[in-house]
Amino acid sequence: MPDLRERIEKRLQDEICTQYPWDEPGGKVPLECRPLMSRLDEIIEVISGIRDYSIEPYMDRIRQVVCANCMQDKHGYCANRAQNKCALDAHFSKIVAILEEEFRKDRDVL
Ligand code: SF4
Repeated sequence: MPDLRERIEKRLQDEICTQYPWDEPGGKVPLECRPLMSRLDEIIEVISGIRDYSIEPYMDRIRQVVCANCMQDKHGYCANRAQNKCALDAHFSKIVAILEEEFRKDRDVL
């Protein structure tokens, strides 16, 4: 079985990023997916460190760890988010569900 990160990356590519057009021929991921894929290690770390039934604690932490060092300004505003152009934000619940499923598969084989 491919390792955890590989599986997560593939599922996010297949289930999230393919929903967006590839603007640049040869580009590795659509523009909307770049924050998601380029910050994937931090996102995995954040999601794996939280266990909660509601999505807010995950999102709060992502805003602190990822968005604060991305396009978000000091007032917490991100133009991409406001225009629904960030896959991480637009599909956040689904992304958390994918990661949780893959974490569970790893726990089940231990
Ligand atoms: S919502 Fe904005 S600041 Fe946060 S990851 Fe997406 S593009 Fe970056």
